[in-house]
Amino acid sequence: MKETLQNFYKDAFAKFDKNFTEQQKFLIENPQKKISFEIPLVKSNGELDVYKGFRVQHNNLNGPFKGGMRFSPDVTMEHCEVLASLMTLKTSLTDLPFGGGKGGVTCNTKKLSNKELSEVVDKLVNAMHTSIGSKIDIPAPDMGTNAEIMKMIFQSYSQIYGYSPGVVTGKPTYMSGLRGRNEATGKGAALIAKWAYEKHFEKIENSKVSIQGFGNVGKFTAKFLSNMGAKIVAVSNSSICLYNEKGIEIEKLLEDLAKIENSSLSRFDNLSKYGEQEKSEKIFEVTSDIFIPAATENTITEDTVKLLAADLIIEAANMPTTHLADKWLKSNNKIIIPDILASAGGVIGSYFEWSQNSQNEQWEKSEVYKKIEKKLSQAWINVTSKKDKKNTYRETCYIIAIEKLVKAMPLSYSESK
Ligand code: NAD
Repeated sequence: MKETLQNFYKDAFAKFDKNFTEQQKFLIENPQKKISFEIPLVKSNGELDVYKGFRVQHNNLNGPFKGGMRFSPDVTMEHCEVLASLMTLKTSLTDLPFGGGKGGVTCNTKKLSNKELSEVVDKLVNAMHTSIGSKIDIPAPDMGTNAEIMKMIFQSYSQIYGYSPGVVTGKPTYMSGLRGRNEATGKGAALIAKWAYEKHFEKIENSKVSIQGFGNVGKFTAKFLSNMGAKIVAVSNSSICLYNEKGIEIEKLLEDLAKIENSSLSRFDNLSKYGEQEKSEKIFEVTSDIFIPAATENTITEDTVKLLAADLIIEAANMPTTHLADKWLKSNNKIIIPDILASAGGVIGSYFEWSQNSQNEQWEKSEVYKKIEKKLSQAWINVTSKKDKKNTYRETCYIIAIEKLVKAMPLSYSESK
Protein backbone atom coordinates (compact mmCIF):
# COMPACT_ATOMS: atom_id res chain seq x y z
CA MET A 1 0.00 0.00 0.00
CA LYS A 2 2.78 2.41 0.93
CA GLU A 3 4.58 1.83 -2.34
CA THR A 4 1.36 2.36 -4.31
CA LEU A 5 0.72 5.67 -2.56
CA GLN A 6 4.33 6.80 -3.09
CA ASN A 7 3.92 6.04 -6.80
CA PHE A 8 0.63 7.94 -7.01
CA TYR A 9 2.34 10.95 -5.42
CA LYS A 10 5.28 10.58 -7.82
CA ASP A 11 2.95 10.46 -10.85
CA ALA A 12 1.16 13.58 -9.62
CA PHE A 13 4.30 15.59 -8.80
CA ALA A 14 5.63 14.79 -12.30
CA LYS A 15 2.55 16.50 -13.82
CA PHE A 16 3.18 19.92 -12.29
CA ASP A 17 4.93 22.47 -14.44
CA LYS A 18 6.45 24.02 -11.31
CA ASN A 19 9.00 22.29 -9.12
CA PHE A 20 8.38 21.66 -5.48
CA THR A 21 11.31 21.47 -3.10
CA GLU A 22 12.13 18.04 -1.65
CA GLN A 23 11.16 19.46 1.76
CA GLN A 24 7.72 20.51 0.51
CA LYS A 25 7.17 17.07 -1.02
CA PHE A 26 8.32 15.45 2.22
CA LEU A 27 5.82 17.50 4.24
CA ILE A 28 2.96 16.64 1.88
CA GLU A 29 3.69 12.91 1.87
CA ASN A 30 4.70 12.21 5.47
CA PRO A 31 2.76 12.30 8.73
CA GLN A 32 3.31 15.07 11.24
CA LYS A 33 2.90 12.76 14.22
CA LYS A 34 2.54 9.05 14.94
CA ILE A 35 1.17 7.83 18.26
CA SER A 36 1.33 4.20 19.40
CA PHE A 37 0.21 2.56 22.61
CA GLU A 38 -0.75 -0.78 24.14
CA ILE A 39 -4.19 -1.81 25.33
CA PRO A 40 -4.10 -4.70 27.82
CA LEU A 41 -7.46 -6.40 28.40
CA VAL A 42 -8.29 -9.10 30.94
CA LYS A 43 -11.13 -10.93 29.21
CA SER A 44 -14.13 -12.38 31.03
CA ASN A 45 -12.52 -15.87 30.81
CA GLY A 46 -9.50 -14.53 32.76
CA GLU A 47 -7.12 -14.51 29.77
CA LEU A 48 -4.95 -11.44 29.15
CA ASP A 49 -4.95 -9.98 25.64
CA VAL A 50 -2.71 -7.08 24.62
CA TYR A 51 -3.75 -5.01 21.59
CA LYS A 52 -1.69 -2.43 19.77
CA GLY A 53 -3.23 0.99 19.21
CA PHE A 54 -2.22 3.61 16.64
CA ARG A 55 -3.13 7.13 15.61
CA VAL A 56 -1.43 8.85 12.71
CA GLN A 57 -1.86 12.61 12.45
CA HIS A 58 -0.86 13.22 8.89
CA ASN A 59 -1.52 16.87 8.16
CA ASN A 60 -3.48 19.74 9.74
CA LEU A 61 -2.66 22.62 7.41
CA ASN A 62 -6.32 23.06 6.48
CA GLY A 63 -7.94 22.16 9.81
CA PRO A 64 -8.01 19.49 12.56
CA PHE A 65 -6.77 16.00 11.68
CA LYS A 66 -9.74 13.93 10.52
CA GLY A 67 -10.14 10.24 9.86
CA GLY A 68 -11.44 6.88 10.99
CA MET A 69 -10.47 4.42 13.70
CA ARG A 70 -10.17 0.86 12.36
CA PHE A 71 -10.57 -2.12 14.72
CA SER A 72 -9.01 -5.14 13.04
CA PRO A 73 -6.35 -7.70 14.01
CA ASP A 74 -4.53 -6.81 10.75
CA VAL A 75 -4.28 -3.05 11.20
CA THR A 76 -0.70 -1.70 11.33
CA MET A 77 0.97 1.68 11.73
CA GLU A 78 1.87 1.55 8.02
CA HIS A 79 -1.81 1.03 7.10
CA CYS A 80 -2.73 4.04 9.19
CA GLU A 81 0.01 6.18 7.62
CA VAL A 82 -1.27 5.49 4.11
CA LEU A 83 -4.94 5.92 5.01
CA ALA A 84 -4.20 9.13 6.95
CA SER A 85 -2.41 10.54 3.93
CA LEU A 86 -5.42 9.71 1.74
CA MET A 87 -7.63 11.57 4.22
CA THR A 88 -5.47 14.68 3.87
CA LEU A 89 -5.86 14.48 0.09
CA LYS A 90 -9.61 13.80 0.36
CA THR A 91 -10.36 16.74 2.66
CA SER A 92 -8.16 19.04 0.59
CA LEU A 93 -9.79 17.97 -2.69
CA THR A 94 -13.31 18.45 -1.34
CA ASP A 95 -12.43 21.76 0.27
CA LEU A 96 -13.26 20.82 3.85
CA PRO A 97 -11.75 22.63 6.85
CA PHE A 98 -9.93 19.46 7.93
CA GLY A 99 -6.62 17.71 7.57
CA GLY A 100 -6.04 13.96 7.58
CA GLY A 101 -5.60 11.29 10.24
CA LYS A 102 -6.24 7.60 10.81
CA GLY A 103 -5.95 5.16 13.65
CA GLY A 104 -6.60 1.63 14.68
CA VAL A 105 -6.59 -1.05 17.34
CA THR A 106 -5.57 -4.65 16.62
CA CYS A 107 -8.65 -6.20 18.22
CA ASN A 108 -11.38 -8.33 16.71
CA THR A 109 -14.66 -6.79 17.89
CA LYS A 110 -16.58 -9.94 16.92
CA LYS A 111 -14.71 -11.79 19.71
CA LEU A 112 -15.37 -9.18 22.43
CA SER A 113 -18.38 -8.77 24.69
CA ASN A 114 -19.91 -5.27 25.00
CA LYS A 115 -18.27 -4.91 28.41
CA GLU A 116 -14.85 -5.89 27.02
CA LEU A 117 -15.26 -3.58 24.03
CA SER A 118 -16.18 -0.69 26.26
CA GLU A 119 -13.05 -1.33 28.36
CA VAL A 120 -10.90 -1.31 25.18
CA VAL A 121 -12.44 2.03 24.16
CA ASP A 122 -11.92 3.52 27.65
CA LYS A 123 -8.25 2.57 27.50
CA LEU A 124 -7.98 3.91 23.97
CA VAL A 125 -9.37 7.28 25.09
CA ASN A 126 -7.06 7.24 28.10
CA ALA A 127 -4.09 6.83 25.79
CA MET A 128 -5.24 9.40 23.21
CA HIS A 129 -7.31 12.06 24.98
CA THR A 130 -4.64 14.75 24.98
CA SER A 131 -4.17 14.30 21.23
CA ILE A 132 -7.82 14.38 20.10
CA GLY A 133 -10.59 16.99 20.36
CA SER A 134 -12.97 18.92 18.10
CA LYS A 135 -10.25 21.39 17.14
CA ILE A 136 -7.33 18.94 17.24
CA ASP A 137 -8.11 15.53 15.79
CA ILE A 138 -11.58 14.07 15.19
CA PRO A 139 -11.87 10.28 14.81
CA ALA A 140 -14.76 8.60 12.93
CA PRO A 141 -15.86 5.02 12.14
CA ASP A 142 -13.94 2.80 9.74
CA MET A 143 -13.81 -0.95 9.20
CA GLY A 144 -14.69 -2.77 12.44
CA THR A 145 -16.01 0.33 14.18
CA ASN A 146 -19.49 1.86 14.12
CA ALA A 147 -21.79 4.47 15.66
CA GLU A 148 -21.92 2.59 18.98
CA ILE A 149 -18.12 2.69 19.28
CA MET A 150 -18.11 6.42 18.42
CA LYS A 151 -20.68 6.90 21.20
CA MET A 152 -18.30 5.11 23.60
CA ILE A 153 -15.39 7.38 22.60
CA PHE A 154 -17.61 10.48 22.96
CA GLN A 155 -18.82 9.40 26.41
CA SER A 156 -15.39 8.40 27.65
CA TYR A 157 -13.84 11.66 26.42
CA SER A 158 -16.73 13.68 27.94
CA GLN A 159 -15.97 12.10 31.35
CA ILE A 160 -12.66 13.99 31.24
CA TYR A 161 -13.53 17.22 29.39
CA GLY A 162 -17.29 17.63 29.87
CA TYR A 163 -19.94 17.24 27.12
CA SER A 164 -17.94 17.15 23.85
CA PRO A 165 -19.96 15.78 20.92
CA GLY A 166 -17.54 17.32 18.40
CA VAL A 167 -14.70 14.99 19.43
CA VAL A 168 -15.90 12.25 17.06
CA THR A 169 -18.24 11.96 14.10
CA GLY A 170 -20.38 9.03 13.04
CA LYS A 171 -22.22 9.00 16.37
CA PRO A 172 -25.75 7.52 16.64
CA THR A 173 -28.45 10.00 15.59
CA TYR A 174 -30.00 9.86 19.08
CA MET A 175 -26.67 11.06 20.45
CA SER A 176 -25.78 14.17 18.45
CA GLY A 177 -25.10 12.14 15.30
CA LEU A 178 -26.01 13.25 11.78
CA ARG A 179 -29.12 11.89 10.12
CA GLY A 180 -27.81 10.32 6.90
CA ARG A 181 -24.15 9.91 8.06
CA ASN A 182 -24.39 6.12 7.99
CA GLU A 183 -25.20 6.08 4.29
CA ALA A 184 -23.08 9.14 3.30
CA THR A 185 -20.13 7.25 1.74
CA GLY A 186 -22.43 5.02 -0.31
CA LYS A 187 -24.51 8.01 -1.37
CA GLY A 188 -21.37 9.83 -2.50
CA ALA A 189 -20.05 6.81 -4.42
CA ALA A 190 -23.41 6.33 -6.16
CA LEU A 191 -23.58 10.01 -7.17
CA ILE A 192 -20.02 9.94 -8.54
CA ALA A 193 -20.85 6.74 -10.46
CA LYS A 194 -23.90 8.43 -12.00
CA TRP A 195 -22.09 11.64 -12.92
CA ALA A 196 -19.10 9.80 -14.39
CA TYR A 197 -21.19 7.26 -16.31
CA GLU A 198 -23.44 9.95 -17.76
CA LYS A 199 -20.46 12.14 -18.71
CA HIS A 200 -18.56 9.37 -20.53
CA PHE A 201 -21.17 6.81 -21.54
CA GLU A 202 -24.96 7.04 -21.26
CA LYS A 203 -27.88 7.31 -18.82
CA ILE A 204 -27.29 5.54 -15.51
CA GLU A 205 -30.60 3.67 -16.04
CA ASN A 206 -28.88 1.78 -18.87
CA SER A 207 -25.93 0.61 -16.77
CA LYS A 208 -25.06 -2.74 -15.26
CA VAL A 209 -23.14 -2.49 -12.00
CA SER A 210 -21.05 -4.99 -10.00
CA ILE A 211 -20.03 -4.20 -6.43
CA GLN A 212 -17.23 -5.87 -4.45
CA GLY A 213 -17.82 -5.64 -0.69
CA PHE A 214 -21.30 -5.64 0.83
CA GLY A 215 -20.75 -3.89 4.14
CA ASN A 216 -21.73 -0.32 5.00
CA VAL A 217 -20.37 1.27 1.81
CA GLY A 218 -21.27 -1.51 -0.64
CA LYS A 219 -24.85 -1.85 0.59
CA PHE A 220 -25.68 1.84 0.44
CA THR A 221 -23.92 2.32 -2.90
CA ALA A 222 -26.05 -0.54 -4.26
CA LYS A 223 -29.22 0.91 -2.75
CA PHE A 224 -28.75 4.43 -4.13
CA LEU A 225 -27.68 3.22 -7.59
CA SER A 226 -30.57 0.80 -7.76
CA ASN A 227 -32.94 3.66 -6.82
CA MET A 228 -31.42 5.68 -9.69
CA GLY A 229 -32.43 2.87 -12.05
CA ALA A 230 -29.07 1.11 -12.49
CA LYS A 231 -29.12 -2.68 -12.68
CA ILE A 232 -27.00 -4.23 -9.90
CA VAL A 233 -25.95 -7.54 -11.46
CA ALA A 234 -23.54 -8.75 -8.76
CA VAL A 235 -22.52 -8.05 -5.19
CA SER A 236 -19.89 -9.90 -3.16
CA ASN A 237 -18.31 -10.16 0.26
CA SER A 238 -15.17 -11.99 1.39
CA SER A 239 -16.87 -15.41 1.06
CA ILE A 240 -19.44 -15.26 -1.73
CA CYS A 241 -20.67 -13.46 -4.82
CA LEU A 242 -24.38 -13.09 -5.57
CA TYR A 243 -25.03 -12.85 -9.31
CA ASN A 244 -28.15 -12.11 -11.33
CA GLU A 245 -27.82 -11.05 -14.94
CA LYS A 246 -31.33 -9.53 -14.84
CA GLY A 247 -30.52 -7.41 -11.79
CA ILE A 248 -30.72 -8.16 -8.06
CA GLU A 249 -33.73 -6.76 -6.16
CA ILE A 250 -31.56 -4.70 -3.82
CA GLU A 251 -34.25 -3.06 -1.64
CA LYS A 252 -35.86 -6.43 -0.86
CA LEU A 253 -32.48 -8.12 -0.30
CA LEU A 254 -31.47 -5.40 2.17
CA GLU A 255 -34.81 -5.75 3.99
CA ASP A 256 -34.23 -9.50 4.30
CA LEU A 257 -30.61 -9.08 5.44
CA ALA A 258 -31.66 -6.56 8.10
CA LYS A 259 -33.59 -9.37 9.80
CA ILE A 260 -30.52 -11.62 10.32
CA GLU A 261 -27.43 -11.47 12.53
CA ASN A 262 -24.76 -9.02 11.26
CA SER A 263 -26.95 -8.48 8.14
CA SER A 264 -24.40 -10.64 6.36
CA LEU A 265 -24.91 -12.00 2.85
CA SER A 266 -23.16 -15.26 3.83
CA ARG A 267 -25.53 -15.93 6.74
CA PHE A 268 -28.69 -15.57 4.64
CA ASP A 269 -29.91 -19.01 3.62
CA ASN A 270 -32.44 -17.93 1.00
CA LEU A 271 -30.06 -16.27 -1.47
CA SER A 272 -31.40 -18.27 -4.43
CA LYS A 273 -34.44 -15.95 -4.27
CA TYR A 274 -32.17 -13.17 -5.53
CA GLY A 275 -29.65 -14.86 -7.81
CA GLU A 276 -26.97 -17.47 -8.18
CA GLN A 277 -24.40 -17.95 -5.46
CA GLU A 278 -20.78 -18.13 -6.65
CA LYS A 279 -17.34 -17.88 -5.07
CA SER A 280 -16.25 -14.39 -4.02
CA GLU A 281 -13.70 -13.95 -6.86
CA LYS A 282 -16.48 -14.31 -9.47
CA ILE A 283 -17.15 -10.58 -8.96
CA PHE A 284 -14.20 -9.79 -11.25
CA GLU A 285 -15.56 -11.92 -14.09
CA VAL A 286 -19.12 -10.63 -14.17
CA THR A 287 -20.08 -8.60 -17.24
CA SER A 288 -20.87 -5.07 -16.09
CA ASP A 289 -20.40 -1.46 -17.21
CA ILE A 290 -19.39 -0.13 -13.81
CA PHE A 291 -17.25 -2.00 -11.27
CA ILE A 292 -17.27 -0.64 -7.73
CA PRO A 293 -14.65 -1.91 -5.27
CA ALA A 294 -16.18 -1.25 -1.82
CA ALA A 295 -14.34 -3.88 0.23
CA THR A 296 -10.76 -3.28 1.25
CA GLU A 297 -7.29 -2.34 -0.02
CA ASN A 298 -5.37 -3.87 -2.94
CA THR A 299 -8.16 -5.97 -4.43
CA ILE A 300 -7.61 -4.69 -7.99
CA THR A 301 -4.19 -6.11 -8.77
CA GLU A 302 -2.17 -6.74 -11.92
CA ASP A 303 -4.01 -10.06 -12.25
CA THR A 304 -7.60 -9.22 -11.28
CA VAL A 305 -7.66 -5.99 -13.32
CA LYS A 306 -7.39 -7.97 -16.55
CA LEU A 307 -10.57 -9.87 -15.73
CA LEU A 308 -12.71 -6.74 -15.45
CA ALA A 309 -15.18 -6.12 -18.27
CA ALA A 310 -16.30 -2.72 -16.95
CA ASP A 311 -15.01 0.46 -18.61
CA LEU A 312 -15.68 2.56 -15.52
CA ILE A 313 -14.31 1.86 -12.04
CA ILE A 314 -15.48 3.81 -9.01
CA GLU A 315 -13.21 3.42 -5.98
CA ALA A 316 -15.67 3.45 -3.08
CA ALA A 317 -13.07 1.65 -0.90
CA ASN A 318 -9.81 3.25 0.15
CA MET A 319 -6.77 2.24 -1.94
CA PRO A 320 -8.35 -0.72 -3.75
CA THR A 321 -6.10 -0.45 -6.82
CA THR A 322 -2.38 -1.20 -6.93
CA HIS A 323 -0.12 1.10 -8.92
CA LEU A 324 0.54 -1.56 -11.57
CA ALA A 325 -3.18 -2.20 -12.03
CA ASP A 326 -3.75 1.56 -12.28
CA LYS A 327 -1.15 1.80 -15.04
CA TRP A 328 -2.80 -1.07 -16.89
CA LEU A 329 -6.20 0.66 -16.69
CA LYS A 330 -4.69 3.87 -18.04
CA SER A 331 -3.04 2.14 -20.99
CA ASN A 332 -6.27 0.29 -21.76
CA ASN A 333 -8.32 3.50 -21.76
CA LYS A 334 -10.48 2.49 -18.82
CA ILE A 335 -11.79 5.26 -16.60
CA ILE A 336 -11.11 5.07 -12.90
CA ILE A 337 -12.45 7.58 -10.40
CA PRO A 338 -10.11 7.54 -7.40
CA ASP A 339 -10.99 6.93 -3.76
CA ILE A 340 -10.15 10.48 -2.70
CA LEU A 341 -13.18 11.63 -4.71
CA ALA A 342 -15.43 8.54 -4.97
CA SER A 343 -15.40 7.74 -1.24
CA ALA A 344 -15.43 11.33 0.00
CA GLY A 345 -19.17 11.30 0.84
CA GLY A 346 -18.37 9.94 4.31
CA VAL A 347 -16.00 12.68 5.37
CA ILE A 348 -18.31 15.30 3.85
CA GLY A 349 -21.07 13.83 6.06
CA SER A 350 -18.68 14.00 9.01
CA TYR A 351 -18.03 17.65 8.28
CA PHE A 352 -21.76 18.39 8.47
CA GLU A 353 -22.03 16.41 11.73
CA TRP A 354 -19.17 18.44 13.20
CA SER A 355 -20.74 21.74 12.04
CA GLN A 356 -24.13 20.66 13.38
CA ASN A 357 -22.56 19.81 16.78
CA SER A 358 -20.87 23.21 16.99
CA GLN A 359 -24.29 24.85 16.48
CA ASN A 360 -26.19 22.39 18.73
CA GLU A 361 -28.56 21.58 15.88
CA GLN A 362 -29.91 18.48 14.20
CA TRP A 363 -30.89 18.71 10.57
CA GLU A 364 -33.43 16.60 8.68
CA LYS A 365 -32.06 13.76 6.55
CA SER A 366 -33.35 15.34 3.30
CA GLU A 367 -31.47 18.55 4.14
CA VAL A 368 -28.28 16.57 4.91
CA TYR A 369 -28.54 14.68 1.59
CA LYS A 370 -28.83 17.99 -0.27
CA LYS A 371 -25.82 19.43 1.55
CA ILE A 372 -23.68 16.33 0.82
CA GLU A 373 -24.70 16.34 -2.85
CA LYS A 374 -23.93 20.05 -3.21
CA LYS A 375 -20.48 19.75 -1.62
CA LEU A 376 -19.56 16.66 -3.64
CA SER A 377 -20.82 18.14 -6.90
CA GLN A 378 -18.61 21.22 -6.33
CA ALA A 379 -15.61 18.87 -6.10
CA TRP A 380 -16.75 16.90 -9.18
CA ILE A 381 -17.19 20.10 -11.24
CA ASN A 382 -13.80 21.33 -10.08
CA VAL A 383 -12.14 18.04 -11.08
CA THR A 384 -13.87 17.72 -14.47
CA SER A 385 -13.13 21.32 -15.41
CA LYS A 386 -9.45 20.88 -14.54
CA LYS A 387 -9.02 17.43 -16.11
CA ASP A 388 -7.50 17.24 -19.58
CA LYS A 389 -6.64 14.34 -21.86
CA LYS A 390 -3.05 14.13 -20.59
CA ASN A 391 -4.08 13.38 -17.03
CA THR A 392 -6.17 10.65 -15.46
CA TYR A 393 -8.84 11.42 -12.89
CA ARG A 394 -6.46 10.24 -10.17
CA GLU A 395 -3.67 12.55 -11.33
CA THR A 396 -6.10 15.48 -11.60
CA CYS A 397 -7.50 14.88 -8.11
CA TYR A 398 -4.00 14.61 -6.60
CA ILE A 399 -2.89 17.79 -8.40
CA ILE A 400 -5.85 19.80 -7.03
CA ALA A 401 -5.39 18.44 -3.50
CA ILE A 402 -1.61 18.97 -3.46
CA GLU A 403 -1.87 22.50 -4.88
CA LYS A 404 -4.20 23.49 -2.07
CA LEU A 405 -1.91 21.97 0.57
CA VAL A 406 1.15 23.74 -0.79
CA LYS A 407 -0.76 27.04 -0.81
CA ALA A 408 -1.64 26.49 2.86
CA MET A 409 2.01 26.11 3.85
CA PRO A 410 3.63 29.10 5.57
CA LEU A 411 5.14 31.48 3.01
CA SER A 412 8.60 30.96 4.47
CA TYR A 413 8.55 27.26 3.44
CA SER A 414 8.80 28.20 -0.24
CA GLU A 415 11.62 30.72 0.13
CA SER A 416 14.76 29.70 -1.68
CA LYS A 417 18.15 31.13 -0.78
P1 NAD B 1 -17.41 -3.01 6.22
O1 NAD B 1 -16.55 -3.74 7.17
O2 NAD B 1 -18.77 -2.56 6.64
O3 NAD B 1 -17.62 -3.89 4.88
C1 NAD B 1 -16.55 -4.46 4.17
C2 NAD B 1 -17.13 -5.51 3.23
O4 NAD B 1 -16.08 -5.96 2.37
C3 NAD B 1 -17.67 -6.76 3.90
O5 NAD B 1 -18.81 -7.20 3.16
C4 NAD B 1 -16.55 -7.79 3.74
O6 NAD B 1 -17.00 -9.14 3.75
C5 NAD B 1 -16.04 -7.38 2.38
N1 NAD B 1 -14.69 -7.82 2.08
C6 NAD B 1 -13.57 -7.70 2.84
N2 NAD B 1 -12.51 -8.21 2.19
C7 NAD B 1 -12.97 -8.62 0.99
C8 NAD B 1 -12.38 -9.21 -0.15
N3 NAD B 1 -11.06 -9.48 -0.18
N4 NAD B 1 -13.17 -9.52 -1.22
C9 NAD B 1 -14.49 -9.25 -1.21
N5 NAD B 1 -15.10 -8.67 -0.17
C10 NAD B 1 -14.36 -8.38 0.91
O7 NAD B 1 -16.52 -1.78 5.72
P2 NAD B 1 -17.03 -0.42 5.04
O8 NAD B 1 -17.22 0.60 6.09
O9 NAD B 1 -18.13 -0.73 4.09
O10 NAD B 1 -15.71 0.02 4.24
C11 NAD B 1 -15.38 -0.55 2.99
C12 NAD B 1 -14.26 0.27 2.37
O11 NAD B 1 -14.67 1.62 2.23
C13 NAD B 1 -12.95 0.33 3.17
O12 NAD B 1 -11.88 0.43 2.26
C14 NAD B 1 -13.08 1.63 3.94
O13 NAD B 1 -11.83 2.15 4.35
C15 NAD B 1 -13.75 2.49 2.88
N6 NAD B 1 -14.45 3.65 3.38
C16 NAD B 1 -15.44 3.53 4.30
C17 NAD B 1 -16.10 4.67 4.74
C18 NAD B 1 -17.26 4.58 5.69
O14 NAD B 1 -17.89 5.63 5.94
N7 NAD B 1 -17.62 3.42 6.20
C19 NAD B 1 -15.73 5.93 4.25
C20 NAD B 1 -14.74 6.02 3.28
C21 NAD B 1 -14.10 4.86 2.85
